[in-house]
Amino acid sequence: MDDKHMKKIAVDIHDVVADYMGYFIHLHGWPDRWHENLDQMYDDFGFDKHWADADFLSELPLLNNAKIGVMQLAFNGWDPFFITATHDHGDNIKATKRWLASHTFDKFPVEFPGSMQAKVEWFTPKNMMDVAWVIDDHAQILRPLLEKGYDNVIIMDAPWNREIEGGHRFRNWLEIIDFIGMY
Ligand SMILES: [Mg+2]
Repeated sequence: MDDKHMKKIAVDIHDVVADYMGYFIHLHGWPDRWHENLDQMYDDFGFDKHWADADFLSELPLLNNAKIGVMQLAFNGWDPFFITATHDHGDNIKATKRWLASHTFDKFPVEFPGSMQAKVEWFTPKNMMDVAWVIDDHAQILRPLLEKGYDNVIIMDAPWNREIEGGHRFRNWLEIIDFIGMY
């Protein structure tokens, strides 16, 4: 493998390293339905409300083995970086940075493209030249990347992305490390 290229690993934050949906369920109970758009899962709770709630975002637990996963990638010579569609209404970029720092993830770079759409657009062929793997859970990111023909997409399996075909689907970080370890 070329030393200068294809070493970066784009890691989504919410529901890939931070347990967003799990925490939401902990607070509000099971969703009324699973849906690709997370904000349509509950009839009575708006997800937007939580995106504007800096306390909620800073309190999210770690997803199981997320810390070991990211550290293991770095230890094995990969360059993980975070990329999130989190956009700035309320204090949520600050809260997300605070969350990353509280889990000592702040040593890794983080990109805030500003929206789902802008995040998809961030993955240009030029940027993708350096990116070995993209790890994400959200259909609005996964589907367009797969449709563009990228074959280096890792899906963090969740009930809201099961309709998506293609990519490399794993249920947890241990499976992901195992898989990436092969490359
Ligand atoms: Mg996510």
